[in-house]
Amino acid sequence: MKDKQITKLLKAEKKRQHEAINLIASENYVSDDVLAALGSEATNKYAEGYPGKRYYAGNEIVDQIENLAIERALKLFKLNSKKWGVNVQPLSGSPANIAVYQALVKPGAKIMGMHLAHGGHLTHGHAVSFSGKFWKQVAYTVDKKTEKLDYDALMKLAKREKPAIIVAGYTAYSRKINWKKMREIAESVNAYLLVDMAHIAGLVAAGAHPAPFKHAHVVTTTTHKTLRGPRGGMIFARKDIFVKKKLKSGKIKEESLFDLIQKSVFPGMQGGPHMNQIAGIAVALGEADTVKFRKYTEQIVKNTKALASELKKLGWRIISGGTDNHVFLMDVWNDGDGITGKQASDKLEAEGIILNMNTIPYDTRTPFNPSGLRLGCAAETTRGKKERDMVKLAGRINTILRAE
Ligand SMILES: *Cc1c(COP(=O)(O)O)cnc(C)c1O
Repeated sequence: MKDKQITKLLKAEKKRQHEAINLIASENYVSDDVLAALGSEATNKYAEGYPGKRYYAGNEIVDQIENLAIERALKLFKLNSKKWGVNVQPLSGSPANIAVYQALVKPGAKIMGMHLAHGGHLTHGHAVSFSGKFWKQVAYTVDKKTEKLDYDALMKLAKREKPAIIVAGYTAYSRKINWKKMREIAESVNAYLLVDMAHIAGLVAAGAHPAPFKHAHVVTTTTHKTLRGPRGGMIFARKDIFVKKKLKSGKIKEESLFDLIQKSVFPGMQGGPHMNQIAGIAVALGEADTVKFRKYTEQIVKNTKALASELKKLGWRIISGGTDNHVFLMDVWNDGDGITGKQASDKLEAEGIILNMNTIPYDTRTPFNPSGLRLGCAAETTRGKKERDMVKLAGRINTILRAE
């Protein structure tokens, strides 16, 4: 690269990534093949529309790239292409969620999503996000005692509030989610069930977390977290469930959920898709469809359990008592006996351990200086770490956090 300033900064960032221990639950390290796709000439191409139906000429090759990404996505998640369609164009996870609401939820209607401070995502209806401005959030929480989902409480809330859509799938929830129960809750109020598997997509792909497809109407995901692809998003939607719309002429038009999603992404929200990103997603989906990747996700869960249980042994309170997946929350404030999440994160960063501070359920502190830390093991597992490394790492974290 001829640009000296950017070369220098990219080198420095590479070094930083190489040297730090990365416990950020939403990050990962992509393969050289994914990087090569991202840095390819596919970035030069305008391809508004969908394969075979573009608004620009010269798309015969990028059509094949996008079709390959679609094919691989359906195969990876074991989906029948008569029942499910997938849109691989969302620029990231947030626009994917907005596109779903735009397609299926009338302006002003209610989105029932997990409260941000309990592990939900901003795009699940939070007031500062577009999703909370255009629609109205009905926020649910985890149970105060168990710090896990309470499906009976969710059922009651849904029946009282009658949301148009219920969102399940979180950014900071360490337990398995019962998709069947979620669908029953949605069904009881005639709402759609949107599963946002952004965090756990890699685990779902490899069978380390139950798949939501039997129960969800629509499934969104990012591609860059446990799925280990480039930054991006995908939306899976049912092709065999139809919505009836009365046209001005009085005729009834039937459109599938997938048709509505397609229109919502383009032209509803986005312009040209990022074809280099879609090529990278195709590569990552191919990589995920291997025994090696399945072993990788199994190792993520083993490592995360090892880190959480060792920290617990060393006296730290783990939210909900443990973890079933790639992430967990740890209470460092301990009702005022400990340090704040910000202090804890700063102390660890000074020693080369990178993670994020996080609110814990029913936090008495603020998101800018909360009571907890979020720890995830997908990135370090990519770098070959095993349970014994996690036990050692827990010891280091404990020493750093307890040092004056
Ligand atoms: C990360 C995440 C998103 C958003 O992804 P971006 O790519 O950052 O826009 C959406 N939903 C959940 C549950 C997430 O964890």
